[in-house]
Amino acid sequence: MNYQDIIRWLKCPPGPEVYPLRDRADQIRQQYVGDAVHLRGLVELSNICSRNCLYCGIRRDNQAITRYRLTADEVLDCARKAVDFGFGTLVLQGGEDPGLSKDFIGELISLIKSETNLAVTLSLGERKVDEWAAWREAGADRYLLRFETSNSQLFNYIHPPRDGHAPCDRISMLKTLQSLGYETGSGVMIGIPGQTYEDLARDIELFGELSLDMIGVGPFIPHPQTPLGAGQVSDAGIDQVPGSVEMGLRVLALARIVCPGANIPSTTAFATLDRQAGREMGLCWGANVVMPNLTPLQYRKLYEIYPSKAASTETAEESRDAAFRQIEHLGRTPGSGRGDSPHHLQQTTTSKRKEG
Ligand code: SAM
Repeated sequence: MNYQDIIRWLKCPPGPEVYPLRDRADQIRQQYVGDAVHLRGLVELSNICSRNCLYCGIRRDNQAITRYRLTADEVLDCARKAVDFGFGTLVLQGGEDPGLSKDFIGELISLIKSETNLAVTLSLGERKVDEWAAWREAGADRYLLRFETSNSQLFNYIHPPRDGHAPCDRISMLKTLQSLGYETGSGVMIGIPGQTYEDLARDIELFGELSLDMIGVGPFIPHPQTPLGAGQVSDAGIDQVPGSVEMGLRVLALARIVCPGANIPSTTAFATLDRQAGREMGLCWGANVVMPNLTPLQYRKLYEIYPSKAASTETAEESRDAAFRQIEHLGRTPGSGRGDSPHHLQQTTTSKRKEG
């Protein structure tokens, strides 16, 4: 699929004209990753963040939230739940919290690995190469770092660099993660104020160029305690992409077409904007992963990256039951085992063969 085709799909009117895109993505999903839907237990490790992203509700300057960080014991309880529930992966996500030190995370990974067979995915933002290397050494399998938008001017605006630092280059960070042997994932938000269709088409092309193992996309959801959510940024005068479920699903389908063997979740943003059908629609438009939330209930509401986040009042058991029900409703099957990315497995086998 070339750039012009991507633009055509992004701009085509909603309704029946766009259904062939869904059908093609669903067929490719079935051919490359099958009918299994892999379940990842999501643990929101900390809402403490040293960054001040204009889009994110846990940004440093949001004084309106109570901050928390889970203890190692609390995380281990989540890991045990993931095993009991039959999940193959634990995803540890959090703000760029200095308290999530190299040693703390390294020890946490070792503890999880010594007690369980879970794959461990980290999503802890921009960290030092020696931290990423140590965590990989400790057994971490995967790393997620969304580049958010390929428009570097827009990215640097919505994601200001640390004081006195040069702008961040998440593309080169993703290459570093790949060179460390992580299964590497990235993605974007859809409908960032100032984002054009051309930006979004370039994002999708970049998924393919980066040869990603995992892709997470979802609509941008305004948070009133952030500059972008409070309407302080004008998108007037540009061909603004809407932050709708409908547009998000097109991006999901296009991601599946450009990266057929990637693991692609139906993200919480879809379920937040459409409680009834958001997650299932994602699974019909190319997704093959869901991430039930295992974060202890007392912290759930505090990880408010955007308002009214889905599952923020559900127990872990309720999140699990909802996920199983939705998978069954679609006639799909819950995945077993770790659910590694077929793309990554193939790349590793090919490079081993070359070495041999
Ligand atoms: N700090 C890590 C990082 O930046 O990669 C991980 C945590 S961050 C909260 C996880 C993701 O949440 C971001 O990559 C971003 O795409 C998404 N996110 C944050 N605020 C959002 C919003 N208002 N609407 C939609 N997604 C949002």
